[in-house]
Amino acid sequence: MDLVDAHVHAYEYEEEDWRAIAGMGGRVIMVAVSEDLESSRKTLGLTPPPNVRLFNCVGIHPWNAHKVGSGEIRALEELVGENRVDCIGEVGVDKRFVPQTWEAQVKVFEKMLVLAREHGLPVNIHAAGAWREALVMVLRHRVERALFHWYTGPLDVLRDIVDAGYLVSVNAAAEIQAKQRAIIEKAPLENMVTESDGPYEYRGLRLSTTLLPKLLGIIAELKGEEEEAIARRVWQNFTRGFIAP
Ligand SMILES: [Zn+2]
Repeated sequence: MDLVDAHVHAYEYEEEDWRAIAGMGGRVIMVAVSEDLESSRKTLGLTPPPNVRLFNCVGIHPWNAHKVGSGEIRALEELVGENRVDCIGEVGVDKRFVPQTWEAQVKVFEKMLVLAREHGLPVNIHAAGAWREALVMVLRHRVERALFHWYTGPLDVLRDIVDAGYLVSVNAAAEIQAKQRAIIEKAPLENMVTESDGPYEYRGLRLSTTLLPKLLGIIAELKGEEEEAIARRVWQNFTRGFIAP
């Protein structure tokens, strides 16, 4: 069964990360996100090891929204037209870490949603502290496929995400983050995929794709199901959310 890393900054992985990932044995699907024009180009230029299949995402992260001009957005739009792009991300809005740039974030996220809609692509969303706002915008733009990454938002928003048929990804940080474990308990398996957000240091835990088997174990335990059944479910959900029908 293929492992799914539905949100990973693969362009930031070093040689030794790739070696560790190649050594995982099985096949790994990576949804490789970007944060600006430069990282989008890097993502599109990646050559992963043979056991990894990349799904390329380009986009402008809400933390960078206030720094980009119309030229950069236009260049990104061209990139989507000219390359094999599988999704738009990491895009979104963030009231928790950067509330001061809210207006610029909304403007850029709107542009990213239009881009996704025009090309029939899924969006890979960062919505820290703005889960409801992000969902409202995605629905308003009638984007068909969306993933809310590292979901730790309110339960009523989770219900509406599920009702809309969108996905949430749960992070390998569940090992030490009680809030993430609580979401795993509450979210239906039908709407859940796995992610690492690697490479990233979270409270002393180095997040990486190599933690995915451990995360599957945590989900299996919390849901009272076999790991194999969870892995199959995640794969099916990923297919629904990321591979155009
Ligand atoms: Zn991320």
